[in-house]
Amino acid sequence: MLQGKTAIVTGSTSGIGQGIARALANQGANLVINGFGDTDQIEKDCAELRENFGIEVIYNGADLTRIEEIEALIGAVRESFGGADILVNNAGVQHVAPIDEFPIDKWDLIIALNLSAAFHTTRLCLPLMRESGWGRIINLASAHALVASPYKSAYVAAKHGIAGMTKVVALETAEDNVTCNAICPGYVWTPLVESQVADTARIRGISEEEVKNDVMLAAQPTKQFVTIEQLGELAVFLCSSAAASTTGSIIPVDGGWTAQ
Ligand code: NAD
Repeated sequence: MLQGKTAIVTGSTSGIGQGIARALANQGANLVINGFGDTDQIEKDCAELRENFGIEVIYNGADLTRIEEIEALIGAVRESFGGADILVNNAGVQHVAPIDEFPIDKWDLIIALNLSAAFHTTRLCLPLMRESGWGRIINLASAHALVASPYKSAYVAAKHGIAGMTKVVALETAEDNVTCNAICPGYVWTPLVESQVADTARIRGISEEEVKNDVMLAAQPTKQFVTIEQLGELAVFLCSSAAASTTGSIIPVDGGWTAQ
């Protein structure tokens, strides 16, 4: 379905981004992999994608908190593929702390990566999408784009912000054959979530098992973590012609969390 299209997936060396990149590769899209990690392992993962799916894959390790690196990333994509058809703004980090103790550098990092980076990639990719007359922008927001939890001030602010930006981009591109939507997962078992368990346990004074069952899954009526594969398939749907009228949508995938 996506043969000949180029998909940039930010933060695709791990977790949800890696899963979405794989789902798009399975539809034939060429990939731009981005994110941090062990470069040998990343190159092995890229080679595996090339071999398994018969697609072109480039890796660009741009630090998306740095505007000049984002500009160089999109420039490199244009040079390699001539355009950018699908943009998945997925890279994100988390930090949990009460607001009056929230480290300023963590606030700045979360706003830069989880919100501002998507502004920069979007503003740079949109002219390329308009040039080709087709585009799909998918923002990985969160249930925290719709509701709040304590100790996550920067994350909740950034995710509410990206939901708002999603709607604005959808309106500005409505007649351009470009759609922009936000996927809002509840808890997905990835390194990002795993790394919050110990901190949350310490702050709340409970065990790590209690954080998983009584804090995280307590919010999810299904009592199941969302899977990376479910998010990959949703991203594929949003790139399909069936989703041509789905734009500006803020789509919860949260086991019923925000229905309560
Ligand atoms: P993850 O930690 O597994 O992956 C994050 C990715 O971002 C990695 O590839 C990492 O290298 C990359 N990254 C980190 N800093 C970067 C930087 N400065 N520049 C470029 N890349 C950088 O996380 P995940 O759980 O897969 O989360 C992915 C997205 O989904 C995030 O935006 C997150 O907020 C969102 N999300 C996750 C969950 C969940 O439960 N895991 C729930 C809702 C939303």
